[in-house]
This record gives sequence, C-alpha cells and structure tokens, in this order.
Amino acid sequence: MSETPPSATTRADPAAIPERSRLSFDLDADICVIGAGLAGLTVALEAARLGASVAVLEGRHVGWNASGHQLGTVMPGYGLSIGELIARVGIEDARELWSLSKQGAERVRANAAEQLMPGMALSEGALEVSNVDVGDQLISRLQMLSEDFETEVEGWQVDRVRAELKTGRYFHGMYYPKAFQIDGRQYIHGLAALARRAGARIFEDTPVVSIDSSGIRKRIVTPSARLRAAHIVLAGNIHLGAPLRRLSETLLPVSRYAAVTAPLGARLAEAVTFQGSVMDSDGVDQFRIVDGDRLMWASPETTWAARPERYAGAIARRIRTIFPQLGKVEITETFGGAVGQTVHGMPQIGQLRRGLWVASGFGRQGLNTSAIAGHLIARSILWGDDRWRLFSPFELVWAGGPTGRVAGHLVGLWSRGSSATAGALARYRERARVQENLREARRLEANRQAGTRPPGARPSRPRPPPGQPRPERPTPPPAAADPGEGAGG
Ligand SMILES: Cc1cc2nc3c(=O)[nH]c(=O)nc-3n(C[C@H](O)[C@H](O)[C@H](O)COP(=O)(O)OP(=O)(O)OC[C@H]3O[C@@H](n4cnc5c(N)ncnc54)[C@H](O)[C@@H]3O)c2cc1C
Repeated sequence: MSETPPSATTRADPAAIPERSRLSFDLDADICVIGAGLAGLTVALEAARLGASVAVLEGRHVGWNASGHQLGTVMPGYGLSIGELIARVGIEDARELWSLSKQGAERVRANAAEQLMPGMALSEGALEVSNVDVGDQLISRLQMLSEDFETEVEGWQVDRVRAELKTGRYFHGMYYPKAFQIDGRQYIHGLAALARRAGARIFEDTPVVSIDSSGIRKRIVTPSARLRAAHIVLAGNIHLGAPLRRLSETLLPVSRYAAVTAPLGARLAEAVTFQGSVMDSDGVDQFRIVDGDRLMWASPETTWAARPERYAGAIARRIRTIFPQLGKVEITETFGGAVGQTVHGMPQIGQLRRGLWVASGFGRQGLNTSAIAGHLIARSILWGDDRWRLFSPFELVWAGGPTGRVAGHLVGLWSRGSSATAGALARYRERARVQENLREARRLEANRQAGTRPPGARPSRPRPPPGQPRPERPTPPPAAADPGEGAGG
C-alpha cells in the first residue's frame, strides 16, 4: 500500500472505539471485505444484516483515511453532473441512478438515527451557490431536478443567498431541504459498531498483501494469517495497492483538507446565518457552522498529499477572502484525507469477475454513494439483485499513473484559475450594472428637472434584478430585407 500522511486530528471519542484486533489466525467467511472505510463498512453491515458471515480486513484502523475525516454533508447525486449522466446513459437509466443516490442518502440517515450512534444530531439543508451569475441555467436545472428526477430543490435569488451568506462572491443558489449533515468524523465509528452488532468481524492493522480470486473459494493473504471466502469486496480506495494494483491505477488520488475555526462569537452572524452546508458550484469551497459559532471549512483539492496542519493558513485566508468582515480567524483543528476520483466521475460499483467485487472511486461525495454500493453489492451476493449493472457503462478507466497525477494537478489549477476569473468577471459585471443603473437614474432625473429628453433616448425599460432572465422583447415588425445581406452575399 502506498503511504499518505495520516490525518492530523480526529474528534471520535476514544472511549467509544473498541480495542483493535488484528487477524492472527486462519479464517473462513462468506465475504471478505478489504478496507474499513465508508465503502467497506457499509458492504459489511448490509451483508451481515442479510445473514452472511463477513470479515473486514483493514490495513490501519477504521476510518484511517478520508472516511474518518470528512465534513458529513449528505446530498443526492454523484460527482458527474445530471446533464452528463443523461448524455452517458440516457434519461431512463439516469433517473434510476439518481433515485439510487437519493436512497443512499436515506440509508445514511437511517444508520445515523440508530441508537448506536449517539450525538449524531442531524441538521437539515444544503445550499449550492453559484460563483457566477447564471440564473437562466439554474432555472432549467431546477426544472429537470424537480420534474424529471423528483428531487426537492428550491431556486434562491441572489438577494436571498446574500441575506444568509453576506458576501458578494456568491450569486444564485440551489437549496436542497432534504440534504442533511452528520458528524462526519463520528459516523464511521458508528457504522463499525452497527456492522459488529450485525455480526461482521473487523480486523485492523491487517493489510491484505495479495489475493487469489481464481477459484470458487478465494484466498486472501495477510502478513500473519490467511482467509478463504466465496466473495472478495475490494474497498481499499486509492491505497489498495498490491492486491490489485491495476484497480488503484484507475483512480486519481486527490487530497482534501479541512479546518475548524475557534469560536467566532457574534461576528459569525454578520457573515453567515445559513445553518446547513454550503458548497460552491466550482467545487472550491465547502463549509458549515459547527458548535454554534465555529466554521468548518474544506479547502480546494490538490493532487499532492501533505500534513493537514500545513493548510491551516491557506484555509484561514480563504475564509477571509469570502467573508472579509470576519477579520482574522484562528484555526484550532485541521484534518483531511485522500479521495479516489475516477476519470468519468462516477463510482466503481460492481463485479469484476465471479465473486470479485469493487466498491471505490467515490470522490468528494462518498457518503450517499458508498451507501448505494453497500446496498447493491450485498443484495447481489445474497439475493441476486443485479441493479449494480446500472453502473456498468462506467468502466474502469486508467487514470494515468504519475503522469495522470501531474495532469490532474494542472487541470485543478487551471479550473480553479478559470473559475476565479469567471467569478471576478461576474462581480465586475454586477458592479457595472449597478453603476449603469445609477447613471441612468441620474440622467433621467436631470432630464426630468430640465423638462427635456436627450436626442434618441427612449423611455427606459425596467431592468430585472441581477441574474434574472430579461422579459421577452416585443417582436419587431417584419423589416424590409437589407439588400447588402443574405445568403451568398
Ligand atoms: C476533507 C474531506 C471532506 C469530505 N467531505 C465529504 C462530505 O461532506 N460528504 C461526502 O459525501 N463525502 C465527503 N468526502 C468524501 C468521502 O470522505 C470519501 O468519498 C469516502 O470516505 C471514501 O470512502 P472509501 O471507503 O472508498 O475510502 P477510504 O476512506 O480511503 O477507506 C479505504 C480503507 O481501505 C484500507 N485499505 C486500503 N488498501 C488496503 C489493503 N490492501 N488491505 C487492508 N486495508 C486496505 C485503507 O487503510 C482505508 O482505511 C470528504 C473527503 C474529505 C477528504
């Protein structure tokens, strides 16, 4: 397995985490799951609940990587936009895939609401804000989501967004009232507790060094013991390594870091009053209020892994860029992990060969999507449900190895740069529009006072608020053809 620096801090209550046990004896099971992240533990929980004997082998400890260090926002959807999803699989399958993504979110809600997850207070709502002024595009997306994909979503005008997030950086918003947040760093331990209670056995400090998936009973080798199982589920994400290196190479490792500020007191309300999660449409910032008056904020992604503490200054500066009224903010915690991004943006869920399953590539939206993986894989193994085939059009595509990582870094820099430019342009246009309106009002007032109208001036049409579609212009009367124009002219 390749090394990534472990995350700096974790909030999970150590008293609630059982002592680690390592696999030190040979074992037989129906299903062997490799990796105790969100994906592996969800498969284990669902399969154990359906009656299978399940062993989970984890190289470090439960939630070691991204799964134990995430922001806990649970939304419908995937890394791939809905338009691209339709283009790729057609409207019917896109609808089914979307519906699965909603069911995934509801499974997370159900797990989090179980007794074994104390302190998992759910708070509702997520707001996706646009960095650019594209109100008309938003309307068609809203229509598609609510009419074709039966998703509860509201469009927020710029004024409403800015009443809750007092910054000129954001324009329109899409509000998902059914999205919610959990304590992302506690959830994974609750999931492990649920899986154990259902009968799954979890072995930590037990890296899988090789597998032989050719026979009916497959063999799994760890440094101090062997396991035999009818099914293997590869849920090791980017760190899977030796057991199937070609699979890890279909993922681009992308690191994400986050920070929590010191209590900000009353000044927080001068910047943010929205209580759910906020993410921008460029995927740069994601944040929410925690513990009443702190901000939890994730930075832009990077393809290079580093210690999360190194990002504290950058995140504090980012917060100040978006909300200058907060002044200098102190960072008290940092954490982070590496997510696996697929080339097509969809997760890898399905059967590679008889009895060999994959659940990885969940990218930045791993909570609802890994829940779908667990549900579909467990049901297919035990009940023959073959809905995982909906994911078959998204094959395992090589992500480019080290060259892909460099390319990913450059694409990341370029897209962040171009979205920053687009945002600056949108803010410039907005300022220019306000100034133009003021100039127009001053000119009209001056003309009114002077009782004149400048030559050629027409009574001005009312302007829609920034970003709203302009009202249709009245159709002009048919004009005489210009002899200078026309086909072949
Ligand atoms: C800062 C941050 C914020 C995020 N916020 C959100 C959010 O708000 N909402 C959301 O939905 N998603 C979020 N995500 C994304 C989400 O965390 C990931 O998509 C998800 O955790 C991936 O889970 P996983 O189980 O596939 O991978 P991992 O968490 O990487 O788990 C894989 C496990 O497999 C083990 N393993 C690997 N190879 C082997 C082997 N050979 N033998 C034994 N064990 C092995 C590893 O040690 C690891 O523990 C965030 C991620 C980050 C980093």
